[in-house]
Amino acid sequence: MPRPATTPDRTPVEANRQDGDEGDLGAHFQRLIRRFGPIPLGQYMAEANARYYAVRDPLGAAGDFVTAPEVSQMFGEMIGGWLADLRARAGRMDSAYVELGPGRGTLARDSLRVLARAAGRPDVHLVEGSPVLRAAQSALLGAVTHHDDIDTLPDDRPLLVVANEFFDALPIRQLVKTAQGWRERMVGLAGDVLVPVAGDRPMDAAVPADLADAPDGALIETCPAASAIMAALAERVAAQGGAILAIDYGYEVLRHGSTFQAVARHQRTDPFAAPGTADLTAHVDFGALASAARHGGLVVDGVAGQGDFLLSLGIGQRAAALARANPAQAESLATALHRLVDPAEMGTLFRVLAARSAAWPQSSGFAHAESG
Ligand code: SAH
Repeated sequence: MPRPATTPDRTPVEANRQDGDEGDLGAHFQRLIRRFGPIPLGQYMAEANARYYAVRDPLGAAGDFVTAPEVSQMFGEMIGGWLADLRARAGRMDSAYVELGPGRGTLARDSLRVLARAAGRPDVHLVEGSPVLRAAQSALLGAVTHHDDIDTLPDDRPLLVVANEFFDALPIRQLVKTAQGWRERMVGLAGDVLVPVAGDRPMDAAVPADLADAPDGALIETCPAASAIMAALAERVAAQGGAILAIDYGYEVLRHGSTFQAVARHQRTDPFAAPGTADLTAHVDFGALASAARHGGLVVDGVAGQGDFLLSLGIGQRAAALARANPAQAESLATALHRLVDPAEMGTLFRVLAARSAAWPQSSGFAHAESG
């Protein structure tokens, strides 16, 4: 049976939320399913998240969940330092800064501050689907170029690409073993309630041979969109130079069982109730992301826990320096540092993948990591 995660991975927070006009996406799905039958889980997740992000800023203390850049400026500063070091050693100060799903733009603000010190601010290109978040990013960052997808990114310069909690929001596909064989997991109706159901079409051909005889209820989860975006970006970076840094909660070895989850109003909720009002995510398969990056022609420098990565870049020293400069902030800095790096907080569950053009030097930050 699907194995639900036990704790929300995007830390829910107390919220005074202001919902935008949501329409009733649940009613829309019900009509669609009554008329045409169950819809694939990926379609459900894509439409629900597009609606969710289009009408709200879900981030930070007044939203639904907190991400690492919203915890502390130190997170973006470490990433800016990582990029600045690599760019300098590659000798390509003309590289563009690219971020996928930049949220409020907080990570970009903090990393660009560090990048700007060495060479002036790079050109900023943001891939963002949400009009509300695009406006927030422009307000915080000034002149940026927004993109609907990666196809329109500049093709004449190296790209320094950052993605924090982007891949987890992309639509997943699940296959479930039934008495009749492997089937795609779809969203159907039980009365007026949206529920997961097994599809009609046999999917055995899509399943690795060693799983053909898995017990009933076994479940395989993949994210074709994440692999496709990573592979296409990797091809660009392989041809133009640059690097990709992807950070998300996830795993490196294929797991069986569902990691599909919803967070809204500071709580874990049923992902099939009230679509469009909750943040739908799944854990990211870093093994699959790494192989997509390699297929695109990149060298993977490593996959590490967020804690090890940030500590090896010197976040401990940065916290100490900030605390010396602002003694009144010492306690909140220590709390933020703990939250970002401690194995019981974001330090281990969150993974960092770094991949770069073979023509660029090796990136820093993976001293203790096995090469992915
Ligand atoms: N990186 C930010 C925000 C994470 S929330 C942070 O760490 O705080 C996920 C972000 O990805 C939001 O900006 C959301 O609007 C964006 N997003 C989700 N799905 C997307 C898609 N398919 N295309 C473009 N952006 C998407």
